[in-house]
Amino acid sequence: MRETVIQLKRGKERKILNLYPWVYRDEVAYLREAGAVSHLYDRRGRLLATGLYSPSSRVIWRFLSLGKVKVDRSFFKKRILEAVAYRKHVPATAYRLVFSESDFLGGLIVDRYNNGLVIQIRSEGMERMKGVVVDALVEALSPSFIYERSDMEGRWEEGLKPVKGPIVGDAPNILTITENGIKFYVDVVGGLKTGFYLDQRRSRQYVASLVKEGFKVLDLFSYSGGFSIYAALKGAKVLAVDTNEAAIRLAQENARLNGVSVSVLVADAFKFLMSDRDTYDLIVADPPAIAKRKDARKSLLGAIWKLTYYSLPRLREGGHLYLCSCSYQASLQDMITYVRFASTDRKIPIYIAATLIQPEDHPFLPHFPESLYLKCLHVVRAPSR
Ligand code: SAH
Repeated sequence: MRETVIQLKRGKERKILNLYPWVYRDEVAYLREAGAVSHLYDRRGRLLATGLYSPSSRVIWRFLSLGKVKVDRSFFKKRILEAVAYRKHVPATAYRLVFSESDFLGGLIVDRYNNGLVIQIRSEGMERMKGVVVDALVEALSPSFIYERSDMEGRWEEGLKPVKGPIVGDAPNILTITENGIKFYVDVVGGLKTGFYLDQRRSRQYVASLVKEGFKVLDLFSYSGGFSIYAALKGAKVLAVDTNEAAIRLAQENARLNGVSVSVLVADAFKFLMSDRDTYDLIVADPPAIAKRKDARKSLLGAIWKLTYYSLPRLREGGHLYLCSCSYQASLQDMITYVRFASTDRKIPIYIAATLIQPEDHPFLPHFPESLYLKCLHVVRAPSR
């Protein structure tokens, strides 16, 4: 198999040697096109790294390894087994097994649901390796099924159509996972993302640690009730709000599955919050990725302001707001700034009691700042002054 050769413009090798995993089209001085596997050279002809070539993408090259390596089934199998080993202590039967660039497999997501796998392919280069990757997954893990959920809009930027369907075996329509000892039904075929917000596992446990018996909890953007069920199991009275009717139905079934009850409401979380007159001990606000692109950053920061501005009066003094953003476009510092604006606009002082990021199965690779995408603030309503 012939490899694509890419030579970088002068100086562009430094970031690659620093383990930044992307090369943009305008950083390339010379290109000789062949297969998906590609060797990267600096301007003086020194071999730097091996990666995958995506001809239609703005990100023309994604890192796999320093130096020259053979990219075959055993390469992927080794990387997959390393990823599994790193996640040995995750306290759940469902977790992210491969997180793209963070596992040095840029473009590949693998989520484990019990013995089954749900994969998502995000780059043209990885798409061309799909057969080899699937073989490696089968050989490494003997999964009971592999289902593909590459049905996201971002694929168009890679010249790829959204794709969804079984690859190996049959995925059960609804399966049951266990996370921190709590059970959840998951719809890997029809649910959002790959079926469950695996990246909020640590947040759910943290929020549960704040809950006392009898707490009134409002779970905004509840999806299938992740935060709600954790809180209800700690003795809280919970109201879950989401626009997605199927998710809300699943939230109720998840409550039943764990022997608790949760009140639910199919509604727009912003509108609900703006007209609500109740007081809560704890509000969770975990909105969807409002800003996938840079130009939407303003509306994301506006949403952070709005959620805080309308939540604060709904909290008792000492009450908790747990606010998340799953978009890279707003940094932790941005979030703190807009939460502070909302607090001063309301003249309600706050403390930031904790900040959390995505859990260990979605590793934040500091060489690749884009991999830090999920940030949450634990805000406490301070006494009025
Ligand atoms: N907290 C959840 C994950 C939330 S994902 C968990 O732990 O599992 C974001 C959710 O917001 C999705 O379920 C989506 O249906 C919902 N959503 C999107 N826009 C909304 C809106 N305007 N009002 C309420 N829910 C909304």
